[in-house]
Amino acid sequence: MSKKIDEFMAKVIERNPSEPEFHQAVREVVESIMPFIEKNQKYQKAKILDRMIEPERVIMFRVPWLDDKGEIQINRGYRIEMNSAIGPYKGGLRFHPSVNLGILKFLAFEQVFKNSLTTLPMGGGKGGSNFDPKGKSDNEVMKFCQSFMTELQRHIGPDTDVPAGDIGVGGREIGFLFGQYKRLRNEFTGVLTGKGLDWGGSLIRPEATGYGCVYFVQEMLKTRGESLKGKVCTVSGSGNVAQYTVEKLTHLGAKAVTLSDSSGFIYDPKGIDEQKLEFVMELKNVKRGRIKEYADEFKCKYFEGKFPWEIKCDVAFPSATQNEIHEGDAKKLVKNGCVAVGEGANMPSTPEAVEIFLDAKILYAPGKASNAGGVATSGLEMSQNSQRLTWTRDEVDEKLLQIMINIHQSCVKYGKDGGSKYVNYVNGANIAGFVKVADAMLDHGVV
Ligand code: NDP
Repeated sequence: MSKKIDEFMAKVIERNPSEPEFHQAVREVVESIMPFIEKNQKYQKAKILDRMIEPERVIMFRVPWLDDKGEIQINRGYRIEMNSAIGPYKGGLRFHPSVNLGILKFLAFEQVFKNSLTTLPMGGGKGGSNFDPKGKSDNEVMKFCQSFMTELQRHIGPDTDVPAGDIGVGGREIGFLFGQYKRLRNEFTGVLTGKGLDWGGSLIRPEATGYGCVYFVQEMLKTRGESLKGKVCTVSGSGNVAQYTVEKLTHLGAKAVTLSDSSGFIYDPKGIDEQKLEFVMELKNVKRGRIKEYADEFKCKYFEGKFPWEIKCDVAFPSATQNEIHEGDAKKLVKNGCVAVGEGANMPSTPEAVEIFLDAKILYAPGKASNAGGVATSGLEMSQNSQRLTWTRDEVDEKLLQIMINIHQSCVKYGKDGGSKYVNYVNGANIAGFVKVADAMLDHGVV
């Protein structure tokens, strides 16, 4: 089997040079899927996997804009329309200087499986730009978003492709993007999700990825007769996903003790309670400051240039970015007694780190399962927009919880390792996500 996987991967690497994150994401899926499709020849005959790794469409474009000094700036914009077998392309936009084609292809590929897992009718896509919102004025961010949407608008639509937020794209950016779309197309429609509550947004959408991740970990812990109550949790990042992960952990009686940004992390052994989280939200979402200021405010330790994986914890929630947990970090986490990892970020653990978690048989939730609550609630936002209705906070939260429980059940169904009781959530998520998309592709013929 490993020879077959290596041969498959050699072709992927040859066809997609210089895209290491895309290779990493494909390999992880292929390792789960190859044994499955060997037993299900219909998928192999129809070359479903070969088709799934080729985006249906890749759009790349120039984004020129004027900064506050009147100077012309040029960024590159992208939209990867990966797979539309089960619904319109759906997936976030990332604005970060590290953005390139390979990173967005990895994210779009992951998104196909994740969206399928939610049980909602959404295909997979991803997009963004190498634009860095950090240090830019609101006016500059608006100018950039308007230029970005001026091109993107011709490729998207409520039944075609529905982008959302991701790193560097929050409520402010979605507002500017939506405003420009509406102006250019003269239509008020659910073309983006993560919208403001006054103009088509859904309650719980900002909270959904973090809340959903915590709900998923709760389900995993239940399988071992445990709960989150009293658990010490390390969280990385301090953006959208991290903030609402901390909020839900606190609601459920757990104690979040760390947060980070790209400069370093804070360690607050007393726990980040509601009042301290309010400070973080103001700091990050309004003042756009650095997490170090938390340590100054609440007199706790700050570690420059580090991720929080050396801190002893029961559960870890990586919620910043890809490849933030390396092999050594994973070893430290396991050695320190960590019993579960819930990935809020996409692919935050390297393949070597994942192997450590699986070998140690801890509860390990890959991002495509545990962070699917965000896109699931985007799907609920699309449903509300189509019906021109608004559901209550409790209604959406209840639906989100049920979706996370369903995703967990699908992972358990497909992820039981041989005769053992251990659930390999990586295999579970990959196979469960694959089957629905693959069957739809079979139905559609060679397209
Ligand atoms: P935000 O932009 O709101 O926050 C990102 C956080 O991660 C910031 O604290 C940022 O620090 C930190 N970060 C980003 N890049 C790096 C890096 N290279 N090294 C160290 N720290 C970094 O993004 P989100 O919270 O929305 O997204 C976080 C993760 O969750 C991403 O992997 C995203 O793909 C994933 N995700 C998000 C969803 C959503 O609904 N928003 C849905 C599903 C997954 P700094 O401010 O210093 O850059």
